[in-house]
Amino acid sequence: MPIYEFKCNDCHKQFETILTSTAKVSEVSCPECHSKNIRKTISASSYRLAGRSSAIPAGALSGCSSKSGFS
Ligand SMILES: [Zn+2]
Repeated sequence: MPIYEFKCNDCHKQFETILTSTAKVSEVSCPECHSKNIRKTISASSYRLAGRSSAIPAGALSGCSSKSGFS
């Protein structure tokens, strides 16, 4: 299944979502803050986010949020 990587423009969380044939990108929302202000990034591991912070700790990408609320 195709896994797409998104980044939230509000809380800057990066997350991956499996989009099935019935799912639409426009229906994807941020798992952190539920914002739809997200953008799709390339999920290929060879792609690097130029000009963006690449020093995101791995724990920050796996739902290990230190913030409370939102969910
Ligand atoms: Zn967010």
